[in-house]
Amino acid sequence: MMPKLILFFLWVAIVSPCWLSAADERPNILFIFCDDHATQAISAYGGPLANVAPTPNIDRIAKEGVLFKKCYVTNSICGPSRAVVLTGKYSHLNGFTKNSDTFDGSQQIAPKLLQKAGYSTAIVGKWHLKSEPTGFDHFEVLKGQGEYYNPRLRTSEGIEVHEGYVTDIITDHSIDWLESRDSKKPFFLMSQHKAPHGRWEPAIRHLEFLADEEVPEPITLFDDYSGRSQAAAQHAMGIADHMGDHRLMFQYSSKHTPEQKAALDAYFVPRNKAFHEASLEGKDKTRWHYQRYIKNYLRCVKAVDESVGRLLDYLDDNRLSENTIVIYSSDQGFYLGEHGWFDKRWMYEESFRTPLLVRWPGAVEPGSTNQNDIVSNLDFASTFLDVAEAPIPEDLQGESLLPVFRGETPEKWRKTHYYHYYESGGHGVPLHYGVTDGRYKLIRYPEPHLNTWELFDIEGDPLELESRYDDPALSDVQNGLHSELKRLQSLYEVPE
Ligand code: CA
Repeated sequence: MMPKLILFFLWVAIVSPCWLSAADERPNILFIFCDDHATQAISAYGGPLANVAPTPNIDRIAKEGVLFKKCYVTNSICGPSRAVVLTGKYSHLNGFTKNSDTFDGSQQIAPKLLQKAGYSTAIVGKWHLKSEPTGFDHFEVLKGQGEYYNPRLRTSEGIEVHEGYVTDIITDHSIDWLESRDSKKPFFLMSQHKAPHGRWEPAIRHLEFLADEEVPEPITLFDDYSGRSQAAAQHAMGIADHMGDHRLMFQYSSKHTPEQKAALDAYFVPRNKAFHEASLEGKDKTRWHYQRYIKNYLRCVKAVDESVGRLLDYLDDNRLSENTIVIYSSDQGFYLGEHGWFDKRWMYEESFRTPLLVRWPGAVEPGSTNQNDIVSNLDFASTFLDVAEAPIPEDLQGESLLPVFRGETPEKWRKTHYYHYYESGGHGVPLHYGVTDGRYKLIRYPEPHLNTWELFDIEGDPLELESRYDDPALSDVQNGLHSELKRLQSLYEVPE
């Protein structure tokens, strides 16, 4: 008997080492990532829209976790931000500087390292990096920008159309994967929404939301761009002049079923007709555009908020909440009429800043706000790895946020942040780069048609309406930021 028993244990030890080891207690990571979701449209961040369009489920992450006020992106545009999140490296090193690029999936990325560390990995939803996802046990990603209705999802098996509303479908499929995953391993799930990226097609159930309300206008809706360089005035992202028929829902972008189209027509067609018959001009027309835009944007956010609630409930119902870190963020912020704009790209606060809310029971103080630490999407890759207790390679340029989550920010934590936008001319936004210390911001526009600088005092001028560049009162600040810009360009190996 004895030799047989020994052989049996030997067999188990060799064939199935997990059987003898303790259960893997490392935390699960749920990363909920939106597209173009501005902090102004999350009620936990406060602001004039908080009461108009509350986001109770996203706010729940803040109530049970920590909210960051100064999470900045390195390059405020969709694809490049995603490449930074995966690699933990600036655009010039990960090779994806512009949306027109194709991501090199053969490089080192966090999901591959998590896989290696024994995590089950999946991505569901927006990808937007063209090449096939690597590093995921399971991927199910939108084709290109994705459609709000009846989206096409790409898996390793091919492309399939799924009838329904994209935000709901991404959440359904995220939950399906959680249900079917290898539950012996901890998981890393990137549940990534298209919403609230344009062109904003709300769910039918949300068409009446805000229908009879006037949404407050931002103070800078009619910005005249004086007080700054010529850069901002040359934009092509104005609510007044650049929205076009699809963003205004005079035309639809998705291919709808007859029932979906009938429901959308019932809401939009009579209102469109009334608008065209009124022949509004000037500020009245801009105001109408703004209301049309902001309501559809906030309706898209409402579906995202419901999806966040569904995922949090799923964790609760499956006793996963205690051992799952939930991270909510967006690829960048967005203009909700500030400076008269929709879209992103600029280093001005609304698109430079992105939401970051984190719940991690036992590690993060519930209901806390981090007001001052400068954190970045550059830090996400290192953070995922640190949560998984996996080694963080030396060449990652971000830092693990774990001590910051715990309220134990290291003394040597970054005091400044480097930004670099490459898509010269997209929506009229020139190439620019710069640095902020959280209080002041220096921006360089190097192209010959501008060849200029801007300097803002974010505390004294939070709307960024007056550049103080070459103001003698700020000469020390200006000189300091110039030196810091050079130091960071050298540190991050930015090509000349
Ligand atoms: Ca985006």
